Amino acid sequence: MNSPLRGDQYFLGLAIEQAQIGWEEGGVPIGAALVHDGEVLAVGRNRRVQMNSAIRHGETDCIERAGRLPASVYRKSVLYTTLSPCFMCAGTALLYEIPRIVVGENRSFERSERLLADHGVQVDVVDNAECVQLMERMLAERPSLWFEDIGEDA
Ligand SMILES: [Zn+2]
Repeated sequence: MNSPLRGDQYFLGLAIEQAQIGWEEGGVPIGAALVHDGEVLAVGRNRRVQMNSAIRHGETDCIERAGRLPASVYRKSVLYTTLSPCFMCAGTALLYEIPRIVVGENRSFERSERLLADHGVQVDVVDNAECVQLMERMLAERPSLWFEDIGEDA
C-alpha cells in the first residue's frame, strides 16, 4: 500500500531490523528491503553464516526472497540496504535495472557506488547512525567473519 507516512526512513528501518536479527543469529548484520511503489516486496538479511551460503548477502537475500518479478517491477523499485553494496549485490541490482538504492552507510565499506552511478543508478547515502553502529560492532567483535564476507582473508 502506498502511504505518505512511509518514506525512506521507514523502509531503511525495515532493513535495520533485518540486520539486527542477523546479528542475533550470529551472522553478519546487514539487512535490506525491496520496495515497489511504496509496497514492500521483500526484506532480507545477510545469511551467509545461517545458510552456509557464499552469496546470501543482505541485498541478494532480499531480492531472492522477493521471488521472480517482472522486469517492469524491478525497474520501478527501490532497494534499501544498511551498508553500501558489494560488487555482487550491485551487479544484481544492475542486472534487474533497479534505478535507486538507498544506502544506510558507506563509512565501513564502499566499492560499487561509482559503478552504479556510471550505469545511471541513483545512490542515496543517508549516513544513518544505527547502520554505522552495526558495522562498528561487527568489525570489533566478528572481524574475520566480515573479511570472509567481502572475499578477503582476515
Ligand atoms: Zn553484497
